[in-house]
Amino acid sequence: ADRPKSVIETLQNSARLYQDKEALVAGAECITYGELNRRVNNMAYALRTRYDIKKGDRVAILLTNGIPFVISLYAVAQLGGICVPLNTRLKSSELEFMLNNSGSSLLVLDDSWWVNIEPIKSSIGACREFFVVGQEIAGTSSFAELIDSDAPEVVTEQIEEHDAALIMYTSGTTGLPKGAVNTNFNVIHTMISYKRIYDLTSDDRTVIAVPLFHVTGLYAQLLTYINLGCTIALLPMYKTDEMLRVLEEERITSMIVVPTIYVMMLMHPEHKNYDLANLRVAGFGGAPMSGETVKMLQEWLPGIELHNTYGLTEIASPGTCMPKEDAMRKLGSIGLPFPVNKCKIADPVTGEELPANTEGELLINSPNLTPGYWQNPEATTKAIIDGWLHTGDIAKIDEEGYVYIMDRIKDMINRGGEKIFCVEVEDVLYSNNKVMEAAVVGVPDEVFGEVVKACIVPRPGVTLTEEEVQDWVRERLAKYKVPKFVQFLTELPKNPNGKVMKNVLREATGN
Ligand code: ATP
Repeated sequence: ADRPKSVIETLQNSARLYQDKEALVAGAECITYGELNRRVNNMAYALRTRYDIKKGDRVAILLTNGIPFVISLYAVAQLGGICVPLNTRLKSSELEFMLNNSGSSLLVLDDSWWVNIEPIKSSIGACREFFVVGQEIAGTSSFAELIDSDAPEVVTEQIEEHDAALIMYTSGTTGLPKGAVNTNFNVIHTMISYKRIYDLTSDDRTVIAVPLFHVTGLYAQLLTYINLGCTIALLPMYKTDEMLRVLEEERITSMIVVPTIYVMMLMHPEHKNYDLANLRVAGFGGAPMSGETVKMLQEWLPGIELHNTYGLTEIASPGTCMPKEDAMRKLGSIGLPFPVNKCKIADPVTGEELPANTEGELLINSPNLTPGYWQNPEATTKAIIDGWLHTGDIAKIDEEGYVYIMDRIKDMINRGGEKIFCVEVEDVLYSNNKVMEAAVVGVPDEVFGEVVKACIVPRPGVTLTEEEVQDWVRERLAKYKVPKFVQFLTELPKNPNGKVMKNVLREATGN
């Protein structure tokens, strides 16, 4: 069959082929492909007639993992709109930037997130309309009523492969998020890549335990599995008990989640009592996973295919993947480039390509590569040079072509797959007038891989407590960015150029 040209086509194809098959299972709710497609059309009709959403318009969604998320996403796609999934963990000011930067004219949100939108209602410019799922808020439309209506079929706009389908925000080195544009072409390549590398068929069943507002949940899982006509279980929020129960009861065959989830399952006292005989493929990515965890996983689930999968938002997820037969032989490696990708290592300063087994910056060339960041040509020019994405990760490639992540250039903390750019937390710390100097680093954590630590030099004569610092950040940024540890110092270690030496802070000061 011809390759689909747009995101909506992939759902419509599956609805044709698998009309009565279960598409989504979310708690007690369950919906077939035929029904999903019908509700998507109803929602698209509402978006068109009530909010005048047209091709190219941005529609932001702030929804917990669940059926409304999926309906909203495909409804926007049906109109040729650009969907902007927002991180539900963010605070008002963080969301405000993304809503303004994307120029979203409509926000579809869960009632429960309204508290974060209400305070910024007057400062989100173009975004004047709100479509609230759940309890009705005065002046907005009821989601339930609309998707159950019997709307006429919405004629799909002509959508070209290279039209933008989504904008996915990632953290930026300046402290401001960057919206990576992913085209229909990009994400369709992603769907095909995962199908090939994980050997997926329509008989596969998966569980989405990671957020749908990041690429792993959205592209590597939702879009990939819908395209194939698979059954997908959705967890509104990750809980280990629930995860193990769903894996068994829903007879899950394949999945990709962050390493933290495997660590949590392995720590669950009863994990061995669950029957996971159907599980064939266990992918992990978004953050490094320790060799120890890989071995424990292999012991728990012998015969399972383990795939360390490395990706980035800018390439709509798939970067490299570990072939199943090498999981142990090449322990610690992120595997080989996905078949359509190319990887090379370059000197971070000169840009010169480096030979095998030499550490440098990892560069990726891929058909999945974003055409650029939304309304941010400077960031695009910096990140993509001659078609190569500069990942900001330090890696080496061995003589057999296997890639190893060694370190990173970007000043970022990876807390269980959720990325935190240090400068953003530092800016918030500096906005407190009791703080003279501040530096934020990641310190090792058994479950999350890394957690945030703040090193602070208070202004002379003031008293500042750990709690005060944590509260200050908690009021302004998402909870996962709040320093777990705060250390007070009399000065920050600096190099002769006056730059804070974070490696010294990471190593010498402990927790
Ligand atoms: P998600 O946002 O869904 O977690 P992601 O991690 O693939 O997906 P980004 O949030 O853009 O995408 O983060 C990319 C960065 O995550 C990489 O540059 C790298 O630092 C880190 N990363 C991703 N996968 C791995 C992996 N398998 N091993 C080590 N680091 C990884």
